Amino acid sequence: MRIRLSAEVLRNDLVRRVEEISGQDLLACYQCGECSAGCPVAFAMDMLPSQVIRLVQLGQVEEALESETIWLCAACQTCYARCPKGVDLSRIMEALREIALQRDGDYLDIRAIHPEELAEFPQQAFIGGFRKYTW
Ligand code: SF4
Ligand code: SF4
Repeated sequence: MRIRLSAEVLRNDLVRRVEEISGQDLLACYQCGECSAGCPVAFAMDMLPSQVIRLVQLGQVEEALESETIWLCAACQTCYARCPKGVDLSRIMEALREIALQRDGDYLDIRAIHPEELAEFPQQAFIGGFRKYTW
């Protein structure tokens, strides 16, 4: 894949969004590969965890969003435990999943939920739904 690098590409809105949601310093990663070597799900992934963060570092968030890897990540945090730079890749994977789910816009409309149903919903599921399904 050829990537034309520029400040605009490297710091585009989606990169900033990943940083904002995950709270991680993407540039801290120096591609040692420790995360990928220890990931228990890497055998099934179409892209290694270290490759996912590399794509995001290079501003190629759309490519990362196309990967099966972000949905296969089990959030086990083995990568975080192994990372010499303290990068929590599970948070980056979660950020990418959130962006993938939100990209079609808001589709959880609280006004469309009946008040009786609202009272029955588990609060955590409700908050989780808002986090994932609203922009
Ligand atoms: S272990 Fe950390 S520094 Fe190494 S490639 Fe993975 S995220 Fe980057
Ligand atoms: S959190 Fe995800 S990427 Fe990290 S080791 Fe676990 S399954 Fe792999």
